[in-house]
Formats: sequence, C-alpha cells, structure tokens
Amino acid sequence: MEAFHAPNDKSEEKVLNAIEDVQNEPQETEEHDSKRFKLCTPDIKAVVNIKFSVSDVKSNYRDATLLPKWKAFQTVIFLERDDGLYDSSKIAAFDFDGCLANTDVKRVGENAWSLMHSSIPDKLQSLYNDGYKLVIFTNESNIERWKNKRQVAVDSKIGRLNNFIEKVKVPVQVYIACGVGSKSGKADKKEDDPFRKPKPGMWHLMEQHFNSGIAIDMDQSFYVGDAAGRESDHSDADIKFAEAIGLKFYVPEEYFA
Ligand SMILES: [Mg+2]
Repeated sequence: MEAFHAPNDKSEEKVLNAIEDVQNEPQETEEHDSKRFKLCTPDIKAVVNIKFSVSDVKSNYRDATLLPKWKAFQTVIFLERDDGLYDSSKIAAFDFDGCLANTDVKRVGENAWSLMHSSIPDKLQSLYNDGYKLVIFTNESNIERWKNKRQVAVDSKIGRLNNFIEKVKVPVQVYIACGVGSKSGKADKKEDDPFRKPKPGMWHLMEQHFNSGIAIDMDQSFYVGDAAGRESDHSDADIKFAEAIGLKFYVPEEYFA
C-alpha cells in the first residue's frame, strides 16, 4: 500500500492536523464497514424524474467550498465537464473506492489512495477511444457526517478523484452521493437519500440532465462495482444499483483481470 505522503504545503498540513480528530469520528461508511452486511431493498420500480434547473447548481456543498469545475446539486457533488469529455449513448460506469481506487478509512487526504488494478489506465483509455463516456458513481457519507471537518472530507474525496483522473489520463464524469442512507433494520424509508446507491438517482441525474439528451444504449452500457453482495462484501449496494437501472454488472476483478 502507498504510504501517506509527508505534508509539503499548508493544505496538506491542515489535512494532517485533521487526521487525529478524524480518527475519533464515527468511521462507518458503506465502503469500509466490513462488520455489518447491509441488504438493500431492490428499487426496480419507477424511473424517478429529477427536477433540475441551473439555479439549483451551487459551487459549494453546505459550508464547504468545491474545487474548480466541481458543483453541487442537492446532496450530490459532481464533475460534469472534464476537458475532452463527450456525452455518449455508451456509458462505462464505475464505483470508486474498492473498484478503481484502493483507499483506507484510516487515511485521509488527496494522496491516500492507489490504483486498485494496474490495468485500469489502459482499460479506461481504450473505452474512451471506443466512444464510451466514463462515469464514476460513488457514495461518500463522510462529507455529511463530519460536520465540523466537512471541508477536509470534501477536499480529500475530490482531491483523490482529481488525482485519479490525472493518473489515468482520460476524462471522466463524476457523481458523489453525499447523503446518508437509513440504517439497516430501521424502516424509515422517508429518510433515504434518493441519490445514495443502491438508489438509482445519480444515474437518472446523469441520464436526464448531463448527457446532452442522448438516449443511452443499455445493451452496450455497463457498471463495475465491488459491493456485490458476496460473502466477503461489505454490502450489495453496487449490484442493486445496477439492477435498479437495468445495467449489466461486473465486479472489478472480473472486469480488470
Ligand atoms: Mg466500493
């Protein structure tokens, strides 16, 4: 695993200072909670129509400011228009943590990740050259839960995604679901965030408002994620997300082998 980089500027220093506090924060994320296996309710019914207007798009998420090009809509932070990105009928969609990037809940900061599979840059470049739009759909509940360190959580997540995109050298559209889902076992469905996987809201936002009106070819499009409900998986949110949309689904070791 890649070691955490030594601080070399003020922002990283700030991140390091925050780590100590962050260690004491509740560390329950869907990506890292291996103790609790969450069975998600399938959500195969109605396609949600997402009401959207340009005035709903913000350049901050609550009290945290976003890096250039990144925007927020309701509980989603997104990167719509990376240089060289083209909308397409063919969507190659990916989860981030545990799929494209190896991350650890104990480490915070934009450099605290490594590539999950060495074949990822080549695979993504050939999909892009083949006319696919690459899209990342990632859940990140820390941004909502770290109320006093929200800027640290935002900078860490967006920084990793920016660094990942720089490393693979291919443009990617990104959606981060920041909302917190209801706890398993508690039946208060009203509290469920519509954008948090397995809910399909991030996909519908992309399809309805950020694909230039191009209809998506569901036979060629697909989604890759590690939360597939296998015995060792922390959750089944990724496979349920794909099912809710009607997308072909692969686990990362199968797709990037
Ligand atoms: Mg994952």
